[in-house]
Amino acid sequence: MADAIRISHRYCAARFPKARKFAAGVTADRARLIRQTSDKWLNGTTIRYWFFDKPRKWTAPNSQKNVVREAFRKWKALGIGLDFAEVKNRTEADVRIAFDQDDGSWSYIGTDVRTRRRDRRTMNFGWSLTGDPKEGMDTAIHEIGHTLGFPHEHQNPFAGIVWNEPAVYAALAAPPNKWSKSTTYHNIIEKIVPDTVQGSHWDPDSVMHYPFEAGLIKKPVKYRGGLTPAGDLSARDRLWALKFYPGISAGTLPPLALLQSVALALQPGQQANFSFHPAETREYEFRTFGASDTVMALDEMSASGARHIAEDDDSGVDRNAYIKAKLRAGRKYVLRVRLQYAHAAGQTAVMIW
Ligand SMILES: [Zn+2]
Repeated sequence: MADAIRISHRYCAARFPKARKFAAGVTADRARLIRQTSDKWLNGTTIRYWFFDKPRKWTAPNSQKNVVREAFRKWKALGIGLDFAEVKNRTEADVRIAFDQDDGSWSYIGTDVRTRRRDRRTMNFGWSLTGDPKEGMDTAIHEIGHTLGFPHEHQNPFAGIVWNEPAVYAALAAPPNKWSKSTTYHNIIEKIVPDTVQGSHWDPDSVMHYPFEAGLIKKPVKYRGGLTPAGDLSARDRLWALKFYPGISAGTLPPLALLQSVALALQPGQQANFSFHPAETREYEFRTFGASDTVMALDEMSASGARHIAEDDDSGVDRNAYIKAKLRAGRKYVLRVRLQYAHAAGQTAVMIW
């Protein structure tokens, strides 16, 4: 057997969510629309991240953490509606970051970071982010991209990549990656579900795309000699980040009034945001109406960003999103509603009482 092609880069081994299963009555079209955004955060969310301070193996000096902090700033600098905040307490964090140098680099995908697991980490960096500063920054941007819900671009089914599969498995089994067949399959060979792809074009310059040495790609023919993405966020990465998470100007959200239903004129995947200023401290109830699937979240707004109070997702089931929470007079709240699917256009509404 010929020697394996030597791969010089270490690759991210993302941890993908389990494929969602739907009840028998859910149509294929409804399932497709729900899948399109099911791993994406509600826009306007403040994603809180935290670095492990123990065990020692999971910690890193500030020089490493600063690369990750800067990568979060780069995503935010695109003008997206998400916010990021570093927190000092693990209990406040959505994203828990470690630097175990023996465990490769990886992240969970999108809101799947909130699923409780035995492993307390949601993101790991398995090599120095400062050894090759450009590659280190791209690694941090890439892992955060997964946390925002973006998959691997080289697994885009529209890429039309035909792999030299034996060469890919052999190259990845060798150092520096030393991957199992299953890890290689799930991170390279397997095509992602078309429903969850951003648009219908392939972007070989995406920060979510690995570089590949010569001999691994059979088609397109032009990449037989290897493929090296340009590095950093590509034009299309920027476009899709803003498409899923457009900028929000917080001062201009329409207010919700008690006992007045508001029609939601949304396309599937679109989101509406409302402000609510309670006049008295008591329990309030929020509900969507209509034959539709929505994700609804309530946040309290303050100088440190949006603090998550409650969220409900009724996608794929026959009920409506509902939140009951005690709110305080004088504070500011934001209700976010994303339409996943509507049985008929324009027949979804939201109300508070
Ligand atoms: Zn990855």
